[in-house]
Amino acid sequence: MKRILHYGAKEITFTLAYQNRKSLGIKVRPDTTVCVLAPVDAKETDVLKKVKAKSPWILKQINHFNSFRPATPPRRFINGETHLYLGRQYRLKIIPDTVNVIKAYRGQLFIHSMNPTKGALEKQLQQWYRQKASIIFEEMLEEVLPKFKRYKIQKPTLVIRKMSKRWGSCTPAGKIILNTELIKAPKGSIEYVIIHELTHLVHRNHTKPFFDLLSRILPDWKKWKERLEYSLA
Ligand SMILES: [Zn+2]
Repeated sequence: MKRILHYGAKEITFTLAYQNRKSLGIKVRPDTTVCVLAPVDAKETDVLKKVKAKSPWILKQINHFNSFRPATPPRRFINGETHLYLGRQYRLKIIPDTVNVIKAYRGQLFIHSMNPTKGALEKQLQQWYRQKASIIFEEMLEEVLPKFKRYKIQKPTLVIRKMSKRWGSCTPAGKIILNTELIKAPKGSIEYVIIHELTHLVHRNHTKPFFDLLSRILPDWKKWKERLEYSLA
């Protein structure tokens, strides 16, 4: 349920959901969407009052996330433009060639291209990201899987695709879906997302046992989650 609240001249839009819980929860996500979780028996007028009282905090969080979103200018695919790969910035170096090859080396992304136009370069780079994602994500899954040995989970099938709102998800059948864009994040953050999804194969929901297990397997997961939110926002 979408709700709109006015605070001074500002407007806060949020989704309201009712849950089996004792107190009100307010979340501001890195994409600046606001989500309010209320106890099942809460009266909506009381909920709105409480959210309103929290408006300064909500607006502060939104500002905070906006400051990490330096309005990435539309990509132009020209020499010198920077693009992210595994958490680092690489400068494009476009080389007209008789083959299509991309190499990342010492902070530069060498794009050998048979057709160095914006559209073709964009497509080529997207394909390269996808290729790297499927190799690296699979390797990382193999690496972290042994940490779950005592929980007897089956090795999940990995699916990689573009998603606009989330980094990863999993299905009850044990399939893990990862966002292609994760390949732009630091390795530790990719590992965090994989471990987060594997933890869901043991505990479906974000319950205390879920976070206990997550913390046992990756004690500094919060750091990597934050890095993820800031690096790609
Ligand atoms: Zn989750």
